[in-house]
Amino acid sequence: MPSMTSRKLEQSRRLQQRAENLIPGGVNSPVRAFKSVGGDPPFIVRGKGSHVWDADENEYIDYVGSWGPLILGHAAPDVLDAIVSAACNGTSFGASTPSEADLAELVLAAYPSMQKVRFVSSGTEATMSAIRLARAYTKRKYIVKFEGCYHGHSDALLVKAGSGIATLGIPGSAGVPEEFTQFTLALPFNNTHAVEYAFQKFKHQIACVIVEPVVGNMGCVPAADDYLVALRLITEREKAVLIFDEVMTGFRVAYGGAQELYNIRPDLTTLGKIIGGGLPVGAYGGSNEIMNLVAPLGPMYQAGTLSGNPLAMAAGCAMLKRLRDHKSEIYPQIDKLSRELVEGVAAAAKDAGVPLCYNRVGSMFTWFFTAGPVIDWDSASKSNTTAFGNFFRAMLDQGIYLPPSQFEAAFLGTAHTQEDVQQTIAAARLSFAAVKA
Ligand SMILES: *Cc1c(COP(=O)(O)O)cnc(C)c1O
Repeated sequence: MPSMTSRKLEQSRRLQQRAENLIPGGVNSPVRAFKSVGGDPPFIVRGKGSHVWDADENEYIDYVGSWGPLILGHAAPDVLDAIVSAACNGTSFGASTPSEADLAELVLAAYPSMQKVRFVSSGTEATMSAIRLARAYTKRKYIVKFEGCYHGHSDALLVKAGSGIATLGIPGSAGVPEEFTQFTLALPFNNTHAVEYAFQKFKHQIACVIVEPVVGNMGCVPAADDYLVALRLITEREKAVLIFDEVMTGFRVAYGGAQELYNIRPDLTTLGKIIGGGLPVGAYGGSNEIMNLVAPLGPMYQAGTLSGNPLAMAAGCAMLKRLRDHKSEIYPQIDKLSRELVEGVAAAAKDAGVPLCYNRVGSMFTWFFTAGPVIDWDSASKSNTTAFGNFFRAMLDQGIYLPPSQFEAAFLGTAHTQEDVQQTIAAARLSFAAVKA
C-alpha cells in the first residue's frame, strides 16, 4: 500500500492536462471529476479483481466498480472470455442475434414482474423510454420523481436529480427549457403524504411514479418500512404506472433486485449497469400488456443502432449466469463483507470523534459525514462535504478508491477480500485523523 507521501502522480497529471484540452473537464461523465473533493484524479490503466492501477503504477482497492456494474470485479474471467469469443464473430450487425434472447431469458427469469424486455445502450435510455411508455399507456402527462433520485440525464428527469447534479450543487441543468419539465413533479423521498397530495392535486393526470427503490444517487438511502408498499398501493389505486428504476439495484441488492428483496411488483422496471457486465447496456420491461405498445408492435417509438449489441449481450449473459449459479453464496458473502467494512469504518470514525452515519443495503453503502439519520435529500445534504473531501483524499493517498462524491453509493463485489476490508478500515483510522486536523 502506497504511503501518504509516496504516491506519484506525474503521469496522471500529464494525462489530465492533455484530456482537459480535448474533452470538457477532461471527463466524459462529470461524476469522474474531482471537482467536489479536490486533488488529482488518477488515470486508470488496468484493473484486476478488486484492485485498479493508475498510470503511475499506484495500486488502489476499488469501491467504485465502474459505478456499480462490476459486481464480479475487474476483468472477471467468464465475462472476458464471453466478450472475446463474441468479438471474433463480428462486433455488430444491426440485425437480430441469438444472444439478445439469451440475455432476455436470464433477465425475465429473475424479474417475474417483467414478461417482455427491450434492450438499449444506457440507463438513461432505459428510464427515458420507460417514461415515454408509461405516458403512452396511461395517456397522461405528469410524472412523479423524488428529490435526490437520479434517472439518467434526459430533459424531463433532470429535476432535483441526485448524482453529479447533487455533487456539483446545481439545481437542474442549463439547456432544459422549463416547458420540458413542466410535467415533472419532484417530491421528497420517503414521504407518503407528499405522494398522496400530488395525486389529489393532479387527479387522473399522473402517468407514473419513478423511484430508485434503494436510492444510490444521493448516497445510499433505503426506502423506509412500507414506503414502497405505499407507492404500490397508491399507484394501483390511481391507475398510474409504478416504475422501479433498478439500473443500480438490479442484480445488486439481490439477484432479483430490490423488487425481490422487498417483494413488490412494479409495472415497469429499468435495468442497466450489472446487466451489461461492464459494457454499455440498459433495459426496460414489464407486462405484455404494457410492453406490446412498444414499436414495432405498438405506437410507442424507441430504437437504437447498437441496441442489443452482441458483445454487450455476451458480457451480460456471462455476468448474470455466474450470479445466478452462485447467488446463494455470492449475495450473503458480499453482504457480510460489506457489513464488516461499513461498521469497521464507522467505528473508526466514532473513535476519532468524527460525526458520521451510514446507510447500507447489501453491497451498496455510503458513509455520510453527518450525525444523521439520512432518509432523504434534505438530510443527505446536511453532510459535511468538506470533511468528506478530506477523508476521500486521505483514503486515496493510502490506496483506497472511493466514489469522489459524498452523494454517490460505494460498492463491494465478489473479488473483495477480508484483507482488502481490513486494509480499508486501517486506512480509515488514519484518514479520520486527517479529517479533524
Ligand atoms: C446510473 C443510473 C442511471 C443512468 O444510467 P446511465 O447508463 O449512466 O445512463 C439511471 N438510473 C439509476 C438509478 C442509475 O443508478
